[in-house]
Amino acid sequence: MSSDKNYEQLLDDVYSNLPKRAMSGERFEMPKFEYFTEGNKTIIKNFKAVAEKIRRDPQFISKYLSKELAVPVEIKTERLILQRRLTGDILNKKLEELVLKYVMCKECKRPDTHIEESGRIRNIICESCGARAAIR
Ligand SMILES: [Zn+2]
Repeated sequence: MSSDKNYEQLLDDVYSNLPKRAMSGERFEMPKFEYFTEGNKTIIKNFKAVAEKIRRDPQFISKYLSKELAVPVEIKTERLILQRRLTGDILNKKLEELVLKYVMCKECKRPDTHIEESGRIRNIICESCGARAAIR
C-alpha cells in the first residue's frame, strides 16, 4: 500500500516539476528564416525546416513568397533561392503574415492546424480546439 502511494507521489512530483510550457504547449514560437545574400540572390538556409515546423507544403510557402515579393523562387533541397537581393527582415515579415493567415488558429491561437479544401473554399481546421475558419 505505502509503496503505491510513494509511486503516485513520485509521479506528482515529476509532473509538477515539468515546465508549464511543455504541459500546456502555450505560446507558439514564431519560426524564423535564416538567410543570406549571394550576388543578386537571397538564399533561405532553413526553408524546409520552417515548412516542417509550420506543417505547410514547401511549394505553398514558396508560391506565397514569390507572389508577395514579386520574385522568382526555386526550391533546392533544404533551401529556397530567391532571385533578388532582399535586405531588412522582409522575409520574416512575410513568413509571419503567412503563419497568421494560413497556420494559426484564430480561436485558440495554436498552430496545430491543417488546411482543408472543398471546391474553391479553403478552411483552416484546428486540431486543438476544432475551430474552422475560411481563408479569404
Ligand atoms: Zn483552435
